[in-house]
Amino acid sequence: MAASMASQAVARGLRAATSKHLLLDKCKCTQLNPRRWLNLQEYQSKKLMQESGVAVQRFYVADTASEALEAAKRLNAKEIVLKAQILAGGRGKGVFDSGLKGGVHLTKDPAVVGELANKMLGFNLTTKQTPKDGVKVKTHRLKTHFQVMVAEALDISRETYFAILMDRACNGPVMVGSPQGGMDIEEVAAKSPELIFKEVIDIFEGVRDDQALRMAANLGFKGPLERQAADQIKRLYDLFLKVDATQVEVNPLGETPEGQVVCFDAKINFDDNAEFRQKAVFAMDDMTESDPTETEAAKWDLKYIGMDGNIACFVNGAGLAMATCDIIDLHGGKPANFLDLGGGVKERQVYEAFKLLTADPKVEAILVNIFGGIVNCAIIANGITKACRELELKVPLVVRLEGTNVHEAKRILSESGLPITAADDLDDAAKKAVAAIKK
Ligand code: GDP
Ligand code: MN
Repeated sequence: MAASMASQAVARGLRAATSKHLLLDKCKCTQLNPRRWLNLQEYQSKKLMQESGVAVQRFYVADTASEALEAAKRLNAKEIVLKAQILAGGRGKGVFDSGLKGGVHLTKDPAVVGELANKMLGFNLTTKQTPKDGVKVKTHRLKTHFQVMVAEALDISRETYFAILMDRACNGPVMVGSPQGGMDIEEVAAKSPELIFKEVIDIFEGVRDDQALRMAANLGFKGPLERQAADQIKRLYDLFLKVDATQVEVNPLGETPEGQVVCFDAKINFDDNAEFRQKAVFAMDDMTESDPTETEAAKWDLKYIGMDGNIACFVNGAGLAMATCDIIDLHGGKPANFLDLGGGVKERQVYEAFKLLTADPKVEAILVNIFGGIVNCAIIANGITKACRELELKVPLVVRLEGTNVHEAKRILSESGLPITAADDLDDAAKKAVAAIKK
């Protein structure tokens, strides 16, 4: 499953990052596993691939060791591969806190499958792409949520990398491939960029035969395999369109000694804006790996990003969030989180935002930095005073409002009688927030 970060690295400069990712980059907030677009487990992605005629191995999913063992027997294959289902790539080289090394295991003895599954299910798997404590291979969380994939292992004679990404710079989809697959594609991009091949796809025309064949040849598929790989590429593109994907990544796209081109791994991201017409796909989302605060924030149309400092930041817009992050840093503080309000704000949202911000026990001060362009500052001010009263706010609150209707907003705050520290500008606000904690 995929190197989501890796593909993002390949696509860096190709694909415009969302505001959230810019923010994460900026704040080096790598302990997060941000949910940007719907992300499914490998087995779910492979089901969609099967439906589009993409070649994947035969597999079952299991959430107990005995089910895994049963599945291994049913597969009746000469070799079995057991794969932990988590939403992060690099599983092959990952480590479980059970001591087991590797989130992907091959065995010729189906009897061993139960033992292996026992050391995977319910344990945390740490990979290059997970937070440092890993991600739990969950069991029984939801009836529909199965946790290990038990698949027929195939011999692999060569591993390549292939992905299709939506790329803002090209105003459409782009294929990215490399004959050096299986490994960290980020490394390939850094060390041998000449081994990364790109093809811009015309959204109206789709993938042309010559493009698919050229990509297949660039990936190193020879003879009859070239045509087979080109066919897989076209099917992957059909799937990409059909499910409103923002990314379809196959690493490795491999070949077997018997002459089959097979997608050994699968990672698909979906455009959240397409949820209304991709109900079946979005229904597969079990949310088990999403940050519950992010999920709650999304309900109110707010974007939440958790960090590890102690100043809660309430901002509007990613640019302002980044600036706030920098300036807090400059004055020796650290953000605990960010809540991005966006435009078109209602009082209720402000209230819910404060509830989320203050629910984080690390928070020792709150910094509000809102620039009212579309946003009416008076609405923010009313939301703030309401939240302060009803939530009985215990931590210092520093507010910097600027823009539309700011005078009215300042009047509301000052007449509220609440212990709110007003700030003149962002610099002043950050200084005051940091100082409030040091007291
Ligand atoms: P990832 O580490 O999370 O990207 O998981 P992958 O599904 O890509 O598996 C990691 C590696 O395990 C692959 O690059 C392959 O080398 C190996 N692997 C996975 N499935 C098979 C298989 O069926 N047969 C063989 N021989 N190797 C496999
Ligand atoms: Mn992989």
